[in-house]
Amino acid sequence: MDPVRNKELEDLDRHLIWHPFTQMKDYVKEVPLIVERGEGSYLMDIYGKKYLDGVSSLWVSVHGHRKKEIDDAIRNQLDQVAHSTLLGISNVSAVELAKALVGIAPAGLRKVFYSDNGSTAVEIAVKIAFQFWKQEGNGGSKHSFLSFINAYHGDTIGSVSLGGIDLFHEMYGSLLFPVYRAPYPYCYRCPLERSTPACGLECLNRVEDILSTHREEIAALIIEPMIQGAAGMITSPKGYVKGIRELTKKYGVLLIADEVATGFGRTGRMFACEHEAISPDILCLAKGITGGYLPLAATLTTGEIFNAFLGEYKEKKTFFHGHSYTGNPLACAAAVANLKVMKEERILENLQGKIQFLSEALKEYGKLEHVGDIRQLGMMVGIELVVDKKTKEEYPFEDQIGIRVIQEARKRGLIVRPLGNVIVLMPPLSVSQDELSEMLSITYDSIKAVTSPALPSPL
Ligand code: PMP
Repeated sequence: MDPVRNKELEDLDRHLIWHPFTQMKDYVKEVPLIVERGEGSYLMDIYGKKYLDGVSSLWVSVHGHRKKEIDDAIRNQLDQVAHSTLLGISNVSAVELAKALVGIAPAGLRKVFYSDNGSTAVEIAVKIAFQFWKQEGNGGSKHSFLSFINAYHGDTIGSVSLGGIDLFHEMYGSLLFPVYRAPYPYCYRCPLERSTPACGLECLNRVEDILSTHREEIAALIIEPMIQGAAGMITSPKGYVKGIRELTKKYGVLLIADEVATGFGRTGRMFACEHEAISPDILCLAKGITGGYLPLAATLTTGEIFNAFLGEYKEKKTFFHGHSYTGNPLACAAAVANLKVMKEERILENLQGKIQFLSEALKEYGKLEHVGDIRQLGMMVGIELVVDKKTKEEYPFEDQIGIRVIQEARKRGLIVRPLGNVIVLMPPLSVSQDELSEMLSITYDSIKAVTSPALPSPL
């Protein structure tokens, strides 16, 4: 540890780096946390202090840090080639990964279009859906999209157009293309003021109203299946996603499943669509695809969609889209290794006990005075903090309640991030039960310390 170097790194960080989703006026006043190393579920900063990685380094890490098989796969690929384009030519690891992805994807998804992050995976889905209908001979009348209130699909202009989180998206309103928006079943604060299961999923009727009225215009409906992540881990009630699949079929609208956050085991299944046994027409993947090692994304489509792009060159049906690092061999090699580990170590089978453990432990949180709702799907958890449990009154934005809780957690050796008033836990799938217990007790204590310091801790 070199104190001079550390100080210099901190100063340079504060002066040079503009951090994403971060109020820099506040950031520069703090001592930055600069990560130097990682091992399993832990990250180590430049002072050697250990932190549990409670959000899988922004929902990407699957087997933890420094997973030998993935490290080796990248090193081996480096000995071959680091990068080569996919425009008009191919590379070995991109081909191997495509085979592996089609092998595990929901039925019918047969073609893999690569890019390098979740937002581009979604942009590509949007462009493909739009162009598909044009080339299907409907003359381009299907030019619009249906997305959900509170949806998050990324930060590029196309994916922001589909997004529905005012805090992130409203600012860019005049730059965006208009989309139809349906309420997502946020059951804790039901937009229709109903409650499940008595409601009989009335919210599906709202989607049907929009689809039946605008079916001629709507190219695709995009959904974060089973759980809206960035909205605050909002889980949908049983049957909802299946209902959406049925409605999109009924009205001849493509279904885009954005599994950027939920894919690769995060919900306890390989893909969230599996919970309701549905297959979308287009599937967006990123984040966990490389086990959290390198930027890579894939947009998968059915053969039918792909076929609409075939034609004589002069017909201009080609999909004119591609990024410099599309199908990067290092990233694809990491992804192939990630999937191999998932299979060989029976990650999904072994995960079920941890998910159960997590559900049991989370029940304790209900005792906290300011925990209004606890939502969980697999290893994705959102703990919604409220001023008053009875009225569900929200903490005012300026209270920064979530930020204060995660700052407490950081002091106690846990890295987590809030989504507004929701504290998110999303440990790597490889987390041990002991590590999970530690994460849970730190989070509990941190919530308590910020919201009601007088309560004793049962954990
Ligand atoms: N879609 C979903 C559902 C996401 O959660 C995210 C990122 N949190 C994205 C898209 C965008 O992914 P990226 O940050 O890799 O662009």
